Amino acid sequence: MTAPATPLILYNSLTRAPEPFRPIDPANVRVYSCGPTVYNYAHIGNLRAYVFTDTLSRVLRWKGWPLTHIINITDVGHLTSDADAGDDKMEAAARKSGRDIWAIARHYTDAFKRNLKDLGIAEPTRFPLATEHVPQMIDFAKTIESKHCYRLPDGLYFDVTTVPDYGRLARHQEDEGESRIDPVAGKRHPADFAIWRASAPGEQRQMEWDSPWGPGAPGWHLECSVMSKQYLGAQFDIHTGGIDHREIHHPNEIAQNQAHSCTPDSGANIWMHNNFLVDRTGKMSKSSGEFLTLQALMDRGFHPLAYRLMCLQAHYRSEMEFGWDGLAAAQVRLKRLVQTVEGLRTRADAPEKGDAASYRERLDVALSDDLATPRALPVLDEMLGDKKLSPGVRLAALADFDATLGLQLSTLTRADLRTRPKTATLGESDIEEQLVERRAARADKDFARSDAIRDTLLAAGVEVMDGDPLGWDWKPVLPEG
Ligand code: AMP
Ligand code: ZN
Repeated sequence: MTAPATPLILYNSLTRAPEPFRPIDPANVRVYSCGPTVYNYAHIGNLRAYVFTDTLSRVLRWKGWPLTHIINITDVGHLTSDADAGDDKMEAAARKSGRDIWAIARHYTDAFKRNLKDLGIAEPTRFPLATEHVPQMIDFAKTIESKHCYRLPDGLYFDVTTVPDYGRLARHQEDEGESRIDPVAGKRHPADFAIWRASAPGEQRQMEWDSPWGPGAPGWHLECSVMSKQYLGAQFDIHTGGIDHREIHHPNEIAQNQAHSCTPDSGANIWMHNNFLVDRTGKMSKSSGEFLTLQALMDRGFHPLAYRLMCLQAHYRSEMEFGWDGLAAAQVRLKRLVQTVEGLRTRADAPEKGDAASYRERLDVALSDDLATPRALPVLDEMLGDKKLSPGVRLAALADFDATLGLQLSTLTRADLRTRPKTATLGESDIEEQLVERRAARADKDFARSDAIRDTLLAAGVEVMDGDPLGWDWKPVLPEG
């Protein structure tokens, strides 16, 4: 089989242009993705960021590049504002809940990893924890201190005027920073940021380390410079994050990298950013405490891969609006795909006919164009429905789509997709029992009995689907959004 040979084009936020991807070392492509701050569950917007990085890493692997992929876990240092204002999110969560900060970090890290698994996101090479890299952060800071930093009573600050082009990634205007409301007194430039946050006298943080600048905790941006350098080298291939990181976090990482390497190099050849998932009802802010988790979708009877499909239907650089109707539509689309594949499976030993190479090529063309998943999905539909190809050929071709889109269509079954809402009172076997009884009633022309069973099921959130063209016996009634 020919390798997917279309040149891969990726949009580089640094140049604001699509660029051909040229690996530094084709035997080991290196990707770093900013990970979650584990003071709470990830919301489905955060998870969109990892569906995007997973698509990226799947496409890179599929196109023949072995990959080292790092997703860090921010378990210290991220303040309630991305600029240096407010409290440490982890410390604040611990204080509010009265729980041990380390236990909080562990709990939400595990929950995050479970989310990734449920979404079919391939495990990265490593999930390094910020708290396990504090000595390396202190060393990094010591290296850049004399030329690039200055001290204030509350810590060590980075002077952004000491590196070339500060804020090029964000396209900061010269005067923009000046007008920012500056929460830290004494900063030389409003965009200067904390490298080390010294604990206030008399204050005892739960997470605290000794340093040349007094006991305290590292500034948030430092961990990504340190961990990406440690695991991927000073200059690696791709750095990803949500679009919010293009404004503060990534420009600050770049400034630190430039200071440390004494070069104008940003640290990564390509910086990629996914756009936001928005929910007009305002339920997408972790700090407001009201937000949608993957578990909340599952509790309503949605399969996590329906959410993955919903994400793939939008291009990662487009804003995506969340709505229950959209999610329900994605779940129906996923069911149809599964139904089609199951149909093919029953006819898998029909004589082989046709060649699916052109579909592979079209998939490659779509994904190589800056991961255009919305264009890849119709290719999948067309391939599955192509009667010129025998079922076996179509099933074999599915492997390429599963490898890149991660929808697990080769193994997913209709039964998997019939997830029940948390509020469900009837189990699958109860439903089957009732349906058997109803079929018997209908055979006896006892329509009153059959209608009564239908109504009872409906009251329990199960809709009977007589004559469904896809052959489903029933579906869960999804609650209103
Ligand atoms: P955090 O846990 O806040 O550090 O965020 C984890 C990742 O989710 C980062 O890459 C963010 O940029 C990204 N992110 C945050 N909010 C959203 C959103 N609403 N939609 C998409 N990505 C987001
Ligand atoms: Zn980061």
